[in-house]
Amino acid sequence: MTYDLKITGGTIIDGTGSPGRAGDVAVHDGRIVAIGSAPDDAVETIDATGRTVSPGFVDIHTHYDAQVLWDRMLTISPWHGVTTVVMGNCGFGLAPTRPEHRSLVVRTLENVEGMSADALEAGLGAWGFSSFPEYLDAVEAQGSAINVAAMIGHTPLRLSVLGPEATERPANADEIVAMRAVVAEAMEAGAVGFATSKSPTHVGFEGRPVPSRQADFAEIAALADELGLAGRGVMQATIGRDLAGPQFAEIAEQTGRPVSWTALLAGAGGPGAHRTALADAAAIADRGLPVYPQVSCRPLNFEFTMADPFIFASMDVFGPVMAVATEGRAEVYADPAFRSAFLEKAGLHRPTMGARWQRTVVSAFPGDPSLEERSVVDLAAERGVDPTELVVDLALASNLQARFRMGVLNTDEDEVAELLVDPHTMLGLSDAGAHASQLCDANFSTHLLGHWVREKEVLSLEQAVHQLTQQPAEVFGLTDRGLLAEGRPADIVVFDPAVVGTSGLRRVHDLPAGADRLVADAYGIDAVVVNGQILRRNDVDQLDPNGPLPGRLLRHGSAA
Ligand SMILES: [Zn+2]
Repeated sequence: MTYDLKITGGTIIDGTGSPGRAGDVAVHDGRIVAIGSAPDDAVETIDATGRTVSPGFVDIHTHYDAQVLWDRMLTISPWHGVTTVVMGNCGFGLAPTRPEHRSLVVRTLENVEGMSADALEAGLGAWGFSSFPEYLDAVEAQGSAINVAAMIGHTPLRLSVLGPEATERPANADEIVAMRAVVAEAMEAGAVGFATSKSPTHVGFEGRPVPSRQADFAEIAALADELGLAGRGVMQATIGRDLAGPQFAEIAEQTGRPVSWTALLAGAGGPGAHRTALADAAAIADRGLPVYPQVSCRPLNFEFTMADPFIFASMDVFGPVMAVATEGRAEVYADPAFRSAFLEKAGLHRPTMGARWQRTVVSAFPGDPSLEERSVVDLAAERGVDPTELVVDLALASNLQARFRMGVLNTDEDEVAELLVDPHTMLGLSDAGAHASQLCDANFSTHLLGHWVREKEVLSLEQAVHQLTQQPAEVFGLTDRGLLAEGRPADIVVFDPAVVGTSGLRRVHDLPAGADRLVADAYGIDAVVVNGQILRRNDVDQLDPNGPLPGRLLRHGSAA
């Protein structure tokens, strides 16, 4: 036969974790047809001498639910070798949504995921769907550069059944029955799971808890039961009160379905606390239960303005701030009562916040660039104020445009290394598509390969590729992804292991309505192939974003 594409002379790392081997890979009709030896001619050939040839990377923790409807290239994930993404994480999403609740959903995503409401309104236009199956159809009709799978989110689900009371109370028996039917319908249509959040950091419209936080455990367990009845699907959850290891173990035991939770980050319970969490995870795994904490290979750095103070949203003192729209927030900050309460609750004297202020710099200050990259602790000391007061002063002096960057969690690299090598964890929490103006970890794959494999030698290349491909694909039931093997869809990345890595972050204004976001460029990614088509070569898109694109909607976890 004549191959469509042949990748020659590289080292094949197939995703299983087994050692790399020299060989060629051939592609025909979107699938891998030869691996190792590929003697026939090809229409197109990529010379991969000195390069690694691996499966396309899988990012199981994205928030592209809205972006996928206006950005068919799903930037920036494919820049970093990602060829498959899972959406609906943390229980957020756009469906099911009744038309009358659309603005509530937009305002929830604005607060909880730092998505610009203007960008969402402009990007979503007339919506064009309300049920979850209709949403999947809309995503599929739109088409995308890379493969997409979606979980049904508890927050829109609850809002569609309970209405605005979803932010106030647990569901009653009838409402649980109604929600179960919607989960069953979504699973039937091709959802890959069900996602929820009980995190106190998830604050939605009008400063209210996101709907899923008002669910009790019985409700969550009942909805997860639908996965057990369907005999497939994963549950993803962000931990919070009464929803952590023991509850996940119970759900996994009852349903027989895997649970992946967010997130096990270094420093979350103080120095060394991650070891207790790892021991708990090991004890659950020893019972044979498929419960996987998600870890991150990136420090959790948040850029924030006081116009959008997500990182403080769960503090009582920010109740009045989150309850008003952005335009009203300066007035709250100018109130001396707010100032003293913020100091009292989050000043330098508080152990956790004090440590975070030590890891905080001014990242942008319109009018006086000399302040940029300076420590807020130093600046506050020079002015004889607390960092909380400094931040409020700079915010008010700049029409809330002053920007700060805080190292919140996952900053101790020795602790992060222990999380990355642990056999019971999985990579997650890129949050791609969310917190767009505050952080960017959609580049986690190139950071893992450059920093943790090449520079720190914490993981072997084979282990890292396994953690980026087969392992997440298996946990999330993406049955035809994550592996280079004959007969598999040809999602392939060719990269230079001596160069691969990520740039620092830069701010661009390319979201709908001109909204800004942080992005990072990749180094050393030679080619990205999706379902047999070359999507990118040497950091340049090869396909017209407005033409046919090779990504597939993975209903039930596969394109079959
Ligand atoms: Zn998330």
